[in-house]
Order: sequence, then C-alpha cells, then structure tokens
Amino acid sequence: MSKIRSMVLDEIYQSAKEQYTTVGNKCVVGQWAATLNEKDKDAFEASINDVDFSTRSLFRLYQKAGAPFGLTSLLTHRNGECGCP
Ligand SMILES: [Zn+2]
Repeated sequence: MSKIRSMVLDEIYQSAKEQYTTVGNKCVVGQWAATLNEKDKDAFEASINDVDFSTRSLFRLYQKAGAPFGLTSLLTHRNGECGCP
C-alpha cells in the first residue's frame, strides 16, 4: 500500500492566500501579464494598446508566447470590462 501525502488545509489556505495578494482582482489575462518579465510586460502593455492590432491578432501573438487564456478573456480585458486595477 502506498501512502499519498496530502497537504493539510492550513498549507493550502496559506499558499492560496499568498497567491491571492499578488494576483488578487486580476483576470486571467492580468494574472498572466503579471508573470512576465519587465521587457515582456512593456511589450504586452504596448501591444494591447496598439490600435493597429485587432484583438484576434494579438491573441495569436500572445498564444505564441504561451498565454493560457482564451480570446474572450482577452477581449474582456482589452475592453476594460474584466475588473483589473
Ligand atoms: Zn483583466
């Protein structure tokens, strides 16, 4: 019989709380942007405000960079309807 070590609730809660303080109030797009390095963060900010790019083409760019969110999330974020600060 193998024993599976499970985390106790206290540990789960503490790690969730740590994450919450850094990504709190941000949608999946904002959370992803927060994980980028400074250079990529600048590129993200510049690109999302670039009117020459449709949201769909931005979505393709971000996917290449490993973005985990969907087009709808990106649309909502770009329109400022997601609640990101
Ligand atoms: Zn957002």
